[in-house]
Amino acid sequence: MRRTAPGPDPVAMYVAGSFRWADDTFPLIDPADGAVIGAVPEAPRCLVDEAVRAARGALSGSWGSMSAQDRATALRRIADGIAARFGEFVDTEVRETGKPRALAETMDIPRAIDNFRAYADLLYARRDSAFHTASPHGQALNYTVRRPLGVVAVISPWNLPLLLLSWKVAPALAAGNAVVAKPSEETPGTAALLAEVIHETGFPAGAFNLVHGHGAGAAGEFLTGHPGVDAIAFTGESATGSAIMRAAADHVTPVSFELGGKNAALVFADADFEAAVEGTARSAFTHSGQICLCTERVYVERPIFDRFVAALGERARELTGYGPMISAAHRDKVLSYYRLAVEEGATVVAGGGVPDFGDRRDQGFHVEPTVLTGLPPTARTVREEIFGPVCHVAPFDAEDEAVRLANDSAYGLAVTVWTSDLSRAHRVAPRVEAGIVWVNCWNLRDLRTPFGGVKASGIGREGGEYSLDFFSEPVNVCVRI
Ligand code: NAD
Repeated sequence: MRRTAPGPDPVAMYVAGSFRWADDTFPLIDPADGAVIGAVPEAPRCLVDEAVRAARGALSGSWGSMSAQDRATALRRIADGIAARFGEFVDTEVRETGKPRALAETMDIPRAIDNFRAYADLLYARRDSAFHTASPHGQALNYTVRRPLGVVAVISPWNLPLLLLSWKVAPALAAGNAVVAKPSEETPGTAALLAEVIHETGFPAGAFNLVHGHGAGAAGEFLTGHPGVDAIAFTGESATGSAIMRAAADHVTPVSFELGGKNAALVFADADFEAAVEGTARSAFTHSGQICLCTERVYVERPIFDRFVAALGERARELTGYGPMISAAHRDKVLSYYRLAVEEGATVVAGGGVPDFGDRRDQGFHVEPTVLTGLPPTARTVREEIFGPVCHVAPFDAEDEAVRLANDSAYGLAVTVWTSDLSRAHRVAPRVEAGIVWVNCWNLRDLRTPFGGVKASGIGREGGEYSLDFFSEPVNVCVRI
């Protein structure tokens, strides 16, 4: 069944098993050239209410009584459905984010497929615990069963639209919950395609619902403050996390938060120099710095500092084919940090402005990959998340100092360590305040591992069993023997 929405390029919503439109719409923009490429419906409160009711209904219907094996089969069908329309998903992701096609083809869409397959597999592999209790009061068998939480709200950002949405939707469904998802208003297209795929697999109506719209004062807030929502899984900015937490507090709704970062790289003088430069360039500039794991602070041991800065600057200047910022507003925010850095006393080693392509991309939202040096640790440019293709490089003299600098941040998502001394890597890794430590690599992902941040970078962990734990409630059953 095709979407029933009007217009040349409709991005429909999906509630209670049918495709929906809304009276209010807003334009969808291609960030690569600023062109209007479609219209997106803005879900009114009554549609969000209906979606939550439909999800509740699915829990007491066929979805709620489905066995774990059947849920795993249903997730595999979704994975197969995305794979069958791979090109369409890639096209949509590229058009709405402006990211290089190769990135969508090798990371976003394959990972979304993997997310559904991985949680289907994990359902089979999952073990429950049991204890034989022998006490002066008698013997018992204690065993734990896991129940779904109920209706789960999923709110996701624009940088990796389908990947991050499916990273929550797959385990939430695997654990037996019903989902109401709201993707970013800037990138709703692949979520709408996912709803089509889910519909085509014959999924029970109401088990997965999709609404579009903005966050504050709109669909996002209607959903996260809804009394019928039993849990909220959110990825986005730390400030949005605070707002959602306040809304969740009214109903003591549990939250799982993947938030912002100001990730550090520590480059020791004994590192493989080329690998460290190459890896740092990748970690700073992939997807034009718009990945939560991207490096924005680089600390380099003094003997190789000048050589490293020169090499990284050269890499930044050599970059071609990079994508735009997601929006004009985000481009302006990143450029305001480029200006602030200079006001704060930075030396601009590379970039610092807007590229001149001489083609349609000049109407898009591109900024130059940028390398800065010379700022004090107190500079706002060094402390605040920019979320663009920019890093500041500073020297250090000792291992303890490197750890202290890495930890001198309100955030704590990821730290990258470049060294050929593995003892040092093992010493440093547990001392840095971050949920993820990469040693001589970056963004080498295994979906079974815990993923998340400390401090302002988040609450809880996603990935493998960690997500299934969040999306279900353990119930202990004690049976006297
Ligand atoms: P954002 O917080 O502006 O928006 C994320 C989502 O929240 C969107 O769907 C938006 O509509 C919704 N939203 C906004 N205000 C809301 C409110 N008051 N109530 C309910 N929903 C609301 O984030 P963004 O700009 O889309 O994404 C970039 C941010 O996401 C960066 O800070 C980045 O670090 C972070 N991020 C973190 C991770 C991670 O895993 N830690 C991954 C990707 C992105």
